[in-house]
Amino acid sequence: MQTLYMDDSYLKEFDGVVKTAKGRFIVLDNTAFFPKSGGVENDTGIMIRKKDNKEFKVVFVGKFEGEISHEVDAEGLAPGDRVKCTIDWDRRYVLMRYHTSAHVLSGLFNREYNFMITGNQLTTEKGRIDMDMEKLDADLISQGIKKANELIEKDLPVEVYYKTRAEAEKDPTLFKLAMGFPHDINTIRIVDIKGFDAQADGGCHVKSLREIGKIIFMKAENRGKNNRRIYYTLQ
Ligand SMILES: [Zn+2]
Repeated sequence: MQTLYMDDSYLKEFDGVVKTAKGRFIVLDNTAFFPKSGGVENDTGIMIRKKDNKEFKVVFVGKFEGEISHEVDAEGLAPGDRVKCTIDWDRRYVLMRYHTSAHVLSGLFNREYNFMITGNQLTTEKGRIDMDMEKLDADLISQGIKKANELIEKDLPVEVYYKTRAEAEKDPTLFKLAMGFPHDINTIRIVDIKGFDAQADGGCHVKSLREIGKIIFMKAENRGKNNRRIYYTLQ
């Protein structure tokens, strides 16, 4: 299956053919729907069957046994059906802004303070990152977020390209984020905030940093030894 969102995160509509349909769970020949993965929420949207214009709502998208499965709100689609799909762009765009902001924060805290990001959870409401900071220091976190916002103001471009696995593995900094990223065996997709931070990553990102807006620090929590959890929103 082709994952269209990997080459074009701004693709909002696409045509597909149903490969398998198990009740309400549909696999297509290609998709621009991002499946819930790597701590990032899934896309939603609609799928319209071309032969009769019947509309199915895509309520969840997940990855199961290497395939992206679309859960729709009603049964009825069958293999071979041609569909026109539209993703809920408002939702996706907010998730893209959060995802790129998480890369900015992880790059910033790693570079400036030598902390590693150990996890993240990104929704349309807020972002959460976990960091291996020894003692909770809210002032330092605020300072880091201020620096992240200054970087966003520089509006660096965000580029996506591919490297061979052998080539990528020569640079361990590409694998700083302990997040799952779908890719095939020999090709690693790189998301590169130019001149700042490049990561192996399978997600959807904005094209330039200013699209993120502004990061607003909400709160930080202690989550056990060497684990500080930071919550933020975007404005
Ligand atoms: Zn990512």
